[in-house]
Amino acid sequence: MSDWDILFRGAKLVSANDMGTADVGVIGEQIAAVGVDLAGSAKQVVDAADAFLFPGIIDAHIHFNEPGREHWEGISTGSRALAAGGGTVFFDMPLNASPPTLNRESFIQKRSLAEQKSVLDFGLWGGLTPVNLDHMDELAESGVIGFKAFMSESGTSDFRRADAATLKQGMKIAAKWRLPVGVHAEDNAMIDSLVREKRAAGGKHWRDYLDSRPIEAELAAIRVALELAGETGCALHVVHVSCPEGVDLIAQGKRQGVDVTAETCPHYLLLKDDDLETIGAPAKCAPPLRSASTQEALWQRWLAGLIHTLGSDHSPAPPDMKMSPDFFEIWGGIAGCQHAFPLLIAEAEKRAKGSGLSQFVRATSLDVARRFGIGERKGKIATGYDADLVLVKLGANQAVGDLLYRHPVTPYFGRRLDAVVKQLWVRGRQVYADGCVSETIRGLFLRPAR
Ligand SMILES: [Zn+2]
Repeated sequence: MSDWDILFRGAKLVSANDMGTADVGVIGEQIAAVGVDLAGSAKQVVDAADAFLFPGIIDAHIHFNEPGREHWEGISTGSRALAAGGGTVFFDMPLNASPPTLNRESFIQKRSLAEQKSVLDFGLWGGLTPVNLDHMDELAESGVIGFKAFMSESGTSDFRRADAATLKQGMKIAAKWRLPVGVHAEDNAMIDSLVREKRAAGGKHWRDYLDSRPIEAELAAIRVALELAGETGCALHVVHVSCPEGVDLIAQGKRQGVDVTAETCPHYLLLKDDDLETIGAPAKCAPPLRSASTQEALWQRWLAGLIHTLGSDHSPAPPDMKMSPDFFEIWGGIAGCQHAFPLLIAEAEKRAKGSGLSQFVRATSLDVARRFGIGERKGKIATGYDADLVLVKLGANQAVGDLLYRHPVTPYFGRRLDAVVKQLWVRGRQVYADGCVSETIRGLFLRPAR
């Protein structure tokens, strides 16, 4: 009998604090030992000497749009693309599926589809909207990872905006369950009036769209969310913060005792407003891409550890929804979960050798697992943790290609990949290796510990 099911030899382990060479022994679904020159026989030995071993990426911000809109992406294609990009766990957002995840029934429907189709482990967000406050308890009982609210219009009519009164009510319920509320923070009234102004003047250009969603709209909403979270004692997670001013507001709220964390997305660190001139529709998102100087300041905040999590906000749509000559009419959402994380790994290493990779691990594994109540089994390469492991090679210099999404659209076309995911395991089972994704492995539903 073998001592190990899998033995990783000589990997450069990347942890939240440091980096060092070690072996990792896996038995069954878990990491059984981490150490130098582990003794014993193994069913499978992975020579990891020329690669980095990362804990699996937990992407807390995904829109796979299923049930109901799997022609936009779908759990099957989406989870495979994320696996190829280093993801071992995703949390699916409650909107863009039809029905949206607003009650027990829709939750069960989505959970069951994901159990049938996902190659990765997963958790599910529930919605916080004006029409489902009385279903939040049953969503919490069903095992949601948190509740998502939109402070501006969501873009889909069946997922309604939460005004301040709704948000406060929802936060009280979430606080009772000790579940976080994730907010899309943009001030609706401000955007509304700016959009009307631009449209009245015949504005259709991407610049008009950007001007209609200024940083101030983001800050105004963050202020309200912080105040309500402070009043209700609710854990607040501000998703896709696009600007350093937003990060600073959140840091200030934290100092004042609010239980708040910030997420940013790879596209705010990898793309900037001028890129819309050449990339166009595939790079439309909300909040929109910001200027080069804003991006630079966001990088500094991120490297300083002031932004707690990184989520892809992978949100594709069929190509015909990305075609209009009127930029306001184009569906907003970036398809990026397959390449965004490897691109960031290379950029983080370039900007801050060693510590950049540790920061990446904090923001994509350790701190995400802790924030969302799965930190007892996920987020670390350590004894007793799930064997969710990603073998990454740096210095690869490959082109972005072979898109596994439902639709071959991404703003990262043409980029060079210096970091490439070579192999990936979820609970000790190999899901991805050199371009191929397992068709047989199925992910596990994760319920947060509270
Ligand atoms: Zn989103």
